[in-house]
Amino acid sequence: LPTTTYRTPDFLAAAERLGFDVTVASEEASTLEGLNPSGLLTVDFDNAASAVERVKEFARRFPVDAVVGADDETVIVSAAIAEALGLPHNSADSVLAARHKPTMRRRLDEAHVPQPRFRLFSIEEEPSRAASAVAFPCVLKPTFLAASRGVIRADDATRFTEAWRRIEKILAEPDVQRRGGEWSREILVEEYVPGAEVALEGLFREGELVTLALFDKPDLMEGPFFEETIYVTPSRLSEEAQQSVRDTAARAAAALGLRHGPVHAELRIPPDGPRVIEIAGRSIGGLCSRTLRFGTGMSLEELLLKDALGLDVAQEKRESRAAGVLMLPIPGVGKLEEIRGAAEARAVRGIEEVTISAHLGQRLVPLPEGSRYLGFVFARAESPERVEAALREAHRRLEFRIRA
Ligand code: ADP
Repeated sequence: LPTTTYRTPDFLAAAERLGFDVTVASEEASTLEGLNPSGLLTVDFDNAASAVERVKEFARRFPVDAVVGADDETVIVSAAIAEALGLPHNSADSVLAARHKPTMRRRLDEAHVPQPRFRLFSIEEEPSRAASAVAFPCVLKPTFLAASRGVIRADDATRFTEAWRRIEKILAEPDVQRRGGEWSREILVEEYVPGAEVALEGLFREGELVTLALFDKPDLMEGPFFEETIYVTPSRLSEEAQQSVRDTAARAAAALGLRHGPVHAELRIPPDGPRVIEIAGRSIGGLCSRTLRFGTGMSLEELLLKDALGLDVAQEKRESRAAGVLMLPIPGVGKLEEIRGAAEARAVRGIEEVTISAHLGQRLVPLPEGSRYLGFVFARAESPERVEAALREAHRRLEFRIRA
């Protein structure tokens, strides 16, 4: 669990409900580690070899039955740890491809999986020259970041150079450099794919990618920045379109060589059929998993922990009610001074929970530089339309005062 993850409470609650013992491995040492040697562990997520050594030594004292990663940062390291412990895992090659966008694009191309055309540049290159080598509109992005950080659409050469410079600054941040290594010297440029976007949450069961949920993203995301806002499931797409999304995602996962555990994919659907924007060997990020419930109220985290232990979760189906989440975007740079309307937002019919994860006094950074949300709003109702309407009404009632 990276220290930046939103998911710690949900994974810990899941483990507690199931009665499993957990060890939280994080990249920053906790002052409590000495007091809880079986429960807390520090590993370097960016150095799989050292993390593996650390966990092997740990596992001699406290045997480990399953390894589950949260968020992109842990995907490579958890596969390496699982391999070292002789547990089921995705190949090193497949998790690398799912983590590094240009590698993913090359693999998908080789397998003829529909996706945007792309071209990889080094930041050494002159952006005006790079601009003359691509078609517009296009999307520029770092090759290894998440949550749309640094993802910028450009419609002409001037905007392209501006976007390039902005990404260059993000890639120059020490923290980003440390995490990205040589990847922080790359910019990926892709053809802009128009159309509706969906997110597919899947899980491998006996070698087959099973869809746990397909989310529509009812807000059109046309850039220049790509803020995630509303996710609603079940999808309102035709059964035929949904099938085509599921098939494309399964082909993409196979092209990368993913075989175990969760898969999260984002696809866009222009008139000629779905194209893969991104596919990752991890589960959904933020607190969005709270929209999902399986069987008689099981959380996604419970399902993932059971699956990682090899317990049978094949029969678990998502509950049939419509559900959705609104990721509250950060409207501007500055200090968060006041939050109003949370009670009013909670009172909207269908709203289940309003979680403000930013705290008063916090300095907020919007996209494309930032990568956090103000919080999350959850809704459940009898139809996706009702869920979407409830989320929009809740958003209307919330007010954030930010001092520049
Ligand atoms: P991240 O991994 O940071 O989320 P993505 O590559 O998934 O980055 O891009 C984030 C969002 O930006 C996507 O969900 C999509 O809305 C938009 N986007 C990215 N690439 C493209 C593209 N080639 N065409 C259209 N939209 C894109």
